[in-house]
Amino acid sequence: MYHIDTTCIHAGYEPGNGEPRVVPIVQSTTFKYATSEEMGKLFDLEADGFFYTRLANPTLDAVEKKIAALEGGVGAMLTSSGQAANMMAVINICHAGQHVVCSTAIYGGTFNLFYKTLHELGIETTFVDPSITAQELATKFQDNTRCVFVETLSNPSLVVTDLELFAKAAHEHGVPLIVDNTFPTPINCRPFEFGADIVTHSTTKYMDGHAVQLGGVVVDSGNFDWKNGKFPEFTEPDESYHGVVYAERFGKAAYITKARTHLMRDMGAQASPNNAFLLNLGLETLALRMERHCSNALKIAQFLENNEKTAWVNYPGLESSPYYKLAQKYMPNGTCGVVSFGVKGGRKAAEKFMAGLKLATIATHVADLRTCVLHPASSTHRQMNDEQLKEAGVTPDLIRLSVGIENPDDIIEDLRQALAQV
Ligand code: PLP
Repeated sequence: MYHIDTTCIHAGYEPGNGEPRVVPIVQSTTFKYATSEEMGKLFDLEADGFFYTRLANPTLDAVEKKIAALEGGVGAMLTSSGQAANMMAVINICHAGQHVVCSTAIYGGTFNLFYKTLHELGIETTFVDPSITAQELATKFQDNTRCVFVETLSNPSLVVTDLELFAKAAHEHGVPLIVDNTFPTPINCRPFEFGADIVTHSTTKYMDGHAVQLGGVVVDSGNFDWKNGKFPEFTEPDESYHGVVYAERFGKAAYITKARTHLMRDMGAQASPNNAFLLNLGLETLALRMERHCSNALKIAQFLENNEKTAWVNYPGLESSPYYKLAQKYMPNGTCGVVSFGVKGGRKAAEKFMAGLKLATIATHVADLRTCVLHPASSTHRQMNDEQLKEAGVTPDLIRLSVGIENPDDIIEDLRQALAQV
């Protein structure tokens, strides 16, 4: 086992003699076999190999292995976006007539997924405040609850979730904890070490880091007991796959195998080989970039905290943050590069500040190596009413600053001059 920064560079791909040193882009939808009998074995899941890129592809496979190694899981599945990853992570185990317990401190797009689309598909969600007590949380489970969903560090409210509390509650009710670990990345937090069962990412964010590809990933810890009586989809034959019983045939990898052979087969939200290649380039420098994102963000959070034009600053790395203690526990080496704050004077002042920025760009994106900034109430979260905004921890004056890896003095100078114009 190498250290995590070495894993970022080397895991997932070991070229043989004369093979490309860099993970190659296998830009092919199909793969050739000499006999239909050989191909049949692949279809029956009796042999390993590639036959059609919607299900698996060598470029994707290398990157999936790297991410599984980074998170400490038994397997991973790349998807075409973070949205697809979260959707598949849930519907792999939760069906019409069933129920999810979900933190309110989640990304707006994920909120919509639960609140609108999964609801329309017959899956109900009970949203809970992330600061809920264990006792109260226990009352939110129903007989038909099939999973709990949280974000390690929420976008954009930067709530640090008490993963152990949510994992314990989930396990006491015989269901897995799914954690969206996009913001800290496995460099800063590995949720499996705190009891999470499934991890998801929008790889569009830090894992890529250069804003060049949209993608997602689902990672399986291999630790959840799917034979506990609540998940017949793993213990009874899947007639659509020649009667395979996932928990019997695939053991620890049952969840991630079913996600691929069942959901990817039917829904097809597969990543492209070219995007997987770009994602791999980002992963190679992930550890280095996270270190710089975090040290820059802390300096900038401290600068903002001492600036007279700001009303408040939220960064879990600041001792003033209500999440400082939890951040020290779950992310002792740093959280992420995102800082949120309010400009005195509310919405109008915030808009003036944004217009004055020169280096930081207004963009619907975070976790880019370029500093970027957003006003969520008028963009990503605009579909929420004031009450829902409040529940998600997004106030109308909140500015989300995604600190890049530029020289921190240049970023601070830009913020200083824009705040001076307010
Ligand atoms: N999860 C989190 C925490 C996010 O921040 C995002 C996007 O911002 C998503 C999921 C959705 O990912 P994507 O935009 O790649 O679909």
